[in-house]
This record gives sequence, C-alpha cells and structure tokens, in this order.
Amino acid sequence: MKILVPIKRVVDANVKVRVKPDGSAVELTNVKMAMNPFDEIAVEEAIRLKEAGKVDEIIVVSIGPQQAQETLRTALAMGADRGILVKVDEQVEPLGVAKVLKGVVEAEQPGLVILGKQAIDDDANQTGQMLSALLGWSQGTFASKIAVEGKKLNVTREVDGGLQTLKLSMPAIVTADLRLNQPRYASLPNIMKAKKKPLDEKTPADYGADVKPRLKIVKTEEPSGRKAGVKVKSVAELIDKLKNEAGVL
Ligand code: AMP
Repeated sequence: MKILVPIKRVVDANVKVRVKPDGSAVELTNVKMAMNPFDEIAVEEAIRLKEAGKVDEIIVVSIGPQQAQETLRTALAMGADRGILVKVDEQVEPLGVAKVLKGVVEAEQPGLVILGKQAIDDDANQTGQMLSALLGWSQGTFASKIAVEGKKLNVTREVDGGLQTLKLSMPAIVTADLRLNQPRYASLPNIMKAKKKPLDEKTPADYGADVKPRLKIVKTEEPSGRKAGVKVKSVAELIDKLKNEAGVL
C-alpha cells in the first residue's frame, strides 16, 4: 500500500508572528519557516506504518512556493520515499489544496492519506475533511492512535470527555492530532541520503485543479496585550474585586 502525506510549509512554531503594518497579512519576509508540526506527526506515523510492514511507499506532497522543496527534503530525510512539489506562489486556500490533493490521489492511488489536523498559520482545520468529501472516502479526524487491520483501519480520536474508536474502510483519510506520536529528528546520514531521493515538480494545472482564491481577508490584527495585574492587600479586597469588578462571584 502507498501512503500520501500532504505537508505545508508554515512560519516556524517558535517564531513570534508579526502582522504587516497595513494589516493585510502576517509578515513572512525573512521569517524562519518550517514543516507544520502536525504534518511532522503525520510523516512520523507513515514511517512507523512502513517500519511495521503495513506500507510499501511514502509519498510526501506540498503545495507552495519553490522553497517548500526544503520542507519536502526534511520529510524525505525523516524517512519518506518520494516527494512532489506542486508549485504555486500565492497562498492556496484549503479548498484549493484539497482539489490539488484529489488530483494527486487519483494519479498516485494511495490506500491512505494522513494529513495534519490543522496548519498552524491559518488554523483552518478544513483540508482533510474537504478532501474526504471530494473523494467520497471515509475519514478519521484528530487521530491519537491508528492501527491497520487488513483492509480496515482503526482510528482512535480524542473527543470531549474521552476517546472514540472508529473502524474505517480503506482507502481513507486520517488527520493527525498532537498525541499520535513524537516525530523523530532526521540524522545527518539520512539528510545526505534525502538529497538523492526523487522530488517531482508539478503545477495545479497538471492535476486539473482550480486554486483561485474564494475568500477575501478583511483584516489581520495582533491580539491585544494582556492588562497588567494588581496586587491586593487582603482577602476581603480580593473578594470585593472578584464580586464588583470582575463580576465572577
Ligand atoms: P488546514 O486545513 O489548512 O488547517 O490544513 C490541514 C492539513 O492539510 C495540514 O496539516 C496539511 O497536512 C494539509 N495542507 C494544508 N495546506 C497544505 C499545502 N499547501 N500543501 C500541502 N498540504 C497542506
């Protein structure tokens, strides 16, 4: 079975994000970029399935600018076998990404697609669900555990108040949650080996996908800063403030 893992190049999770002065978007110039953390988890899970003998080939795909190649190389260094860069210079919305991925799925015929549950830049949490709808495939979102059993897939999901386990028929779509696994670091020899792994370059048109934006960003703004705290002199004063200022008692 082939497995497809879509990965997005996003602002590094450790960077303090700044909004452009005109409020049109987040500043990306000279900002450190990295693989979306949930996609690292998805790549790790695919590698573990391959190590367990359940998967023959792991294909990673990214829809983005030329630099997204570096992100694909990182996934190849972790252990993916082959990469596809679908080159687009503008930001592509989740529906556009899902349409391209549908084309990639039709061309590559994977038995399983593992995505991240959300990209940490736009926090959309939509692509996996949209891809599942476009393909008519079963989906297991927010997976904290997956197990392949022949042609079935058991997906354990974190839901309010506990864990839910679904049995899906494959081919299927899974989106990875934080607790699915702890992704590995790529070793230096594997980083070197990854340079020789195949990486194809395509365009959305190669997959017949229309990635025109349908949404308009009205405004982007930084969250307002937290107000300074106050020190109270007595419990009575604290209770008074909680009652009369905060209104929580
Ligand atoms: P989102 O719906 O934007 O929150 O993204 C959910 C998941 O879809 C991500 O974790 C990725 O696995 C995948 N994804 C989103 N955008 C892209 C992209 N441009 N290229 C490849 N995969 C993507």
